[in-house]
Amino acid sequence: MKKRYSRKPRQLKEFAVEQASQLFEKAENVYSENRELANEYVGIARKLCMKYKAKMPSVLKRRYCKHCKCYLRVGDNCRIRLNKGKVVYLCLNCKHFTRMRYR
Ligand SMILES: [Zn+2]
Repeated sequence: MKKRYSRKPRQLKEFAVEQASQLFEKAENVYSENRELANEYVGIARKLCMKYKAKMPSVLKRRYCKHCKCYLRVGDNCRIRLNKGKVVYLCLNCKHFTRMRYR
């Protein structure tokens, strides 16, 4: 039987990550004018990574809210606190926390 879910070539994964980071840059540029468009870019980047089963780099991961999938800009719709060895991101859109460890 043929495998339904095949592994994607590494090149494609790298391509997806590259595209995703470009999309995040676009989102950053467009955010001040059009938030919805920025959120859409985030959505496209996420789907790209899912499609190619690429791991979203942690640098990008912390730039969007994983609950409401909106683009986060520090000091605007996102608050960062340090708590017990973790970085806590509060999304002001949906009021959910995202925690990340730091060393
Ligand atoms: Zn959110």
